[in-house]
Amino acid sequence: MYNFEHKKVTRFIKKHKVRRAAIQLPAGLRPHLSEIKATFEGAGADAIILGDSCYGACDVADVKAKQLGCDALVHYGHSDMGLRTVLPTLYVEARMTADPLGVVEKALPKLKFKRLGLATTVQHIEFLPKIAKILRSSGIKPLVGKPGSRARYPGQILGCDWGSVKSISDKVDGFLFIGTGKFHPLGISLATGKEVIAVNPVAGSCENLIFNLGDFLRQRKAMISRATACEKFGILISSKPGQARLKLAASLAGELRRAGLTAHILVLDEISQEKLDDFKLDAFVCAACPRIPIDDAGRFSKPILTPFEARVMIGKEKFEPYKLDEVKSSDF
Ligand code: SF4
Repeated sequence: MYNFEHKKVTRFIKKHKVRRAAIQLPAGLRPHLSEIKATFEGAGADAIILGDSCYGACDVADVKAKQLGCDALVHYGHSDMGLRTVLPTLYVEARMTADPLGVVEKALPKLKFKRLGLATTVQHIEFLPKIAKILRSSGIKPLVGKPGSRARYPGQILGCDWGSVKSISDKVDGFLFIGTGKFHPLGISLATGKEVIAVNPVAGSCENLIFNLGDFLRQRKAMISRATACEKFGILISSKPGQARLKLAASLAGELRRAGLTAHILVLDEISQEKLDDFKLDAFVCAACPRIPIDDAGRFSKPILTPFEARVMIGKEKFEPYKLDEVKSSDF
């Protein structure tokens, strides 16, 4: 189901003369641990599994691995977003072998667009050229956007980087997303205002996802209204290296204070309701992972805003056009 690139991992272990490696795995790959670990054993290296949560390459645990006496880190499931590390670090993208081409072929009659943008996550990225070929042969012009600041490949999107779809949004009539879940198609729709057809290669399904953006915007407006009645704010960043947007948090804290509000910058590893409850604050602004206030809003009992929404609340921005939070190098 996944390509764990055993030869590449073995070459890396030999090249860096690794005696003890740390392995980082997102939840979905943990059931494959035995297969992954066998490569390290076969190459004569000891392997330690870092069992804390791991949602993206933003969460590279090189410092922890070094503290544990490891010579190297092997991070699975995400592409390198260019963060500097204190140990030799190998990213194994764990691309999925599930072939979406059959589903795309079946979906062709539903594709009423003349120009279609292609977007996916790193797990399915290698199928984009073949999908483009199928589309071309049925008279549809495929377009693949150049990668944004955190993505590595043309057409790749992340929950904190919609650059590739934004770069072609004015040249296409809609998007074809290859992958699972609704978060990414919703993000494409919000970032571009275009219709999204989602092909799920795992379930073998194809859905025309016409999001009710009006409902989404009403929910976010209601969240801003709840926060408007609050006085004490926590500005959240994470200690995960690619989510530690301290410069952004400091600038938001300054803006909130100048608007007469109280603002504290809170640094947490994992952001959860239980941890936030201890601080007795009224509302939060998330300057950590942009997915948290959108995707996980239901997990929090108090209002949790994006940086853009916080600026709307204090009258520094207009609510429309709504802007998705994206991570920029100037945030750090
Ligand atoms: S910041 Fe969030 S969306 Fe971006 S890579 Fe990390 S976990 Fe994924």
